Amino acid sequence: MFLTEQLLDTIRQRAATLDKDNAYFTQDLQDLKEAGYLRAFVPKEFGGFGLSLDEMVYEQMALAGAAPATALAINMHQVWIGVARSVYSSGDNSMNFVFEEAVADEVFAFGVSEAGNDLVMFGSNSVATPCDDGGYAFTGTKIFTSNSPGWTRLGTFGAHCAQNGETLNVWGFLERSTPGITIKDDWDTLGMRASQSCTTVLDGAVARPDRIVRKLPSGASSDPFIFGIFAHFEVLLAAVYTGIARRALDVAVETVHKRMSKATGKPYAQDPAIRWRIADAAMELDTVFPLMRMAALDVDAGVDRGDLWFPQLSNVKSKATETALSVVEKAVRVSGGSSYFNRSELSRLYRDVLAGLFHPSDDESVHGAWAQALLGPQD
Ligand SMILES: Cc1cc2nc3c(=O)[nH]c(=O)nc-3n(C[C@H](O)[C@H](O)[C@H](O)COP(=O)(O)OP(=O)(O)OC[C@H]3O[C@@H](n4cnc5c(N)ncnc54)[C@H](O)[C@@H]3O)c2cc1C
Repeated sequence: MFLTEQLLDTIRQRAATLDKDNAYFTQDLQDLKEAGYLRAFVPKEFGGFGLSLDEMVYEQMALAGAAPATALAINMHQVWIGVARSVYSSGDNSMNFVFEEAVADEVFAFGVSEAGNDLVMFGSNSVATPCDDGGYAFTGTKIFTSNSPGWTRLGTFGAHCAQNGETLNVWGFLERSTPGITIKDDWDTLGMRASQSCTTVLDGAVARPDRIVRKLPSGASSDPFIFGIFAHFEVLLAAVYTGIARRALDVAVETVHKRMSKATGKPYAQDPAIRWRIADAAMELDTVFPLMRMAALDVDAGVDRGDLWFPQLSNVKSKATETALSVVEKAVRVSGGSSYFNRSELSRLYRDVLAGLFHPSDDESVHGAWAQALLGPQD
């Protein structure tokens, strides 16, 4: 593993206080930078460590098991590197700057979500206005921008109505120092508190011409850039939530060995019902690993699974997040009332794991994608 047990332990020890104080993971970021984690996924020829997506899945699971919010926020950085890898492996060098900047310890964030926009990345309420030099000025409000205090590069998009009337989705990268970017201090949530996923207001924030990476017709697209977002976002997000579930199960196993039954005089680990529930949670979790791993290996190998690829990637995320929620709930049940106290790690994991439901692809859209693939468009 790239992330050492010692570093993960250090990060784990901070997580409870960051959550309690609703504080950003400043020190975690510094430690991860020093460990070279921001460049772990960058290909070796660009000065990175060249980990594969399959390997990153295990790293992100481990990081999430230590500090879910830190892992979720850093995930956005790793997703952009993944997108640059997809674009690069299609023979297009236009996103190589992501590798170069990640190696220089720039921190990438994901400024995509907008309030009430269920088109997600296929349509935007934000506006991208062309500048004379080929750059674009972005205006709009992006919600839930994880890593708000720490990002230095923001990948974002907005709509531009071209002269022929066609609407283009313009994707570009903004630098933190660019005028026209305001970050609201508005992150006060049930879980994932240290991610500090605040609202970002863009008011004519300009991305230079060489940072405009795509102008795509609105709607679904099989462009390697879109595939790259989809594939890396869904698989790495699955890794984060699976890491949370795995940690919850470990905590539950530890707890039931200590929790004593007055009725039997034995630890709950000897209670058949508790044993069954722990086994049930583990069996559920066990079904996610192969799904996630096969997807990661196929993305690494450039396998094209055809029409079902996008729905299958959505399903990896959906199954992982739904399973994680169920596993954490079972971990809470077997651990008893102690897990209801805010001081309990399980209580925090229970709040954190809930966030998995909201990320795309949510349960409704993944079912929609499968129905469309199997039955064709709905009238
Ligand atoms: C912990 C966490 C971290 C995330 N990190 C990122 C990230 O880094 N980058 C990113 O792009 N996305 C991120 N997301 C966003 C996520 O992927 C979803 O887009 C987000 O949860 C919105 O989901 P939704 O469609 O269910 O919410 P919505 O229903 O769209 O609600 C989201 C917000 O918009 C408001 N809203 C809804 N409809 C309207 C409307 N018509 N007019 C005005 N306001 C409205 C709601 O009141 C709410 O405050 C993150 C989400 C979570 C939970």
